Amino acid sequence: MSTPIALVGIGKIAQDQHVPAIGASEDWDLAATVSRHGNVPGVENFADLDSMLAARPDIGVVSLCLPPVPRFEYAAAALRAGRHVMLEKPPGATLAECHALQTMAAERGLTLYASWHSRAAGMVAPAKAWLADKSLKKMEIIWKEDIRRWHPGQDWILEAGGMGVFDPGINALSIVTEILPDPIHVAGAILHVPENRQAPIAAQVSFHHPTAQVTADLDFLQTGEQTWTIRAETDQGTMTLTFGGSRMHIDGVEQTGADPDPLNAEYPRLYRHMTGLVASGRSDVDLTPIVHVSDVFTLGRRVAAPPFDF
Ligand code: NAP
Repeated sequence: MSTPIALVGIGKIAQDQHVPAIGASEDWDLAATVSRHGNVPGVENFADLDSMLAARPDIGVVSLCLPPVPRFEYAAAALRAGRHVMLEKPPGATLAECHALQTMAAERGLTLYASWHSRAAGMVAPAKAWLADKSLKKMEIIWKEDIRRWHPGQDWILEAGGMGVFDPGINALSIVTEILPDPIHVAGAILHVPENRQAPIAAQVSFHHPTAQVTADLDFLQTGEQTWTIRAETDQGTMTLTFGGSRMHIDGVEQTGADPDPLNAEYPRLYRHMTGLVASGRSDVDLTPIVHVSDVFTLGRRVAAPPFDF
């Protein structure tokens, strides 16, 4: 039997991934949407969350696909109304609001799932298994994409709280913090902030690690080939994750995974995990990636970059 679920914020990621993943799942029934401008054909849409919560007590689960800054009020309202909540990444605009949501969910016995879609990419688990018994010597994160291609017109990304290039960059950090056996923390960062914006359009970050040099090079202005690569040099060879964790090479030899189309399996995996969390009354909230982004914004040195317009 499928469980009714509501999707809130029918924008790019809801249309690209959430709607198809829910539609293909036997576990879930997309019973309502909440969106001021978007809709899903054949699904009842509400212009605001409170109206949906009042009109549809049968919907026990709400999945939030809004940008991070407005998301807290929506998540808090859904939890107050007794609904389980699934959050797109990043789980919030600040750490304190994520902690507040954790407390609210725990007090009410509700599930809160802070999803990290890149952790569900096909070769992340094999990469973690491979690194488990290696000694890391060097790790390079190279995350370079074209903001105009992937986030057309999304001004919120470069506003305060939008995280700028760390909106995609946090995906890399979600993978790194999943696959590395040892913890890392930010040691320094340079943030390139366009003169007419609030958030960085490029960044270089160095991390402290017990044995290795770990760096990240992030760029939102990459045209042509797009790069979502993590390269790990170890005492027993080099592992390279490419295409956001969906392909893996060991010493140049491609490793095969079980998924024929691993990138597209990310969101079905997230919703399968949500099914298990709700069924077992658990939450899953790992804030490690957003801790690092928060530290980058605390410690990073700002340098002016040319104005940016879409
Ligand atoms: P988006 O299309 O710009 O926004 C999603 C929806 O959020 C909008 O359609 C809008 O819905 C609602 N919204 C925007 N600003 C709002 C505000 N101030 N108050 C209330 N609602 C607001 O963004 P997106 O690309 O889908 O990204 C949403 C989240 O998904 C982000 O956290 C992002 O990091 C994550 N994500 C994005 C991608 C991607 O490739 N784009 C991939 C993975 C994850 P209505 O105006 O219709 O109400």
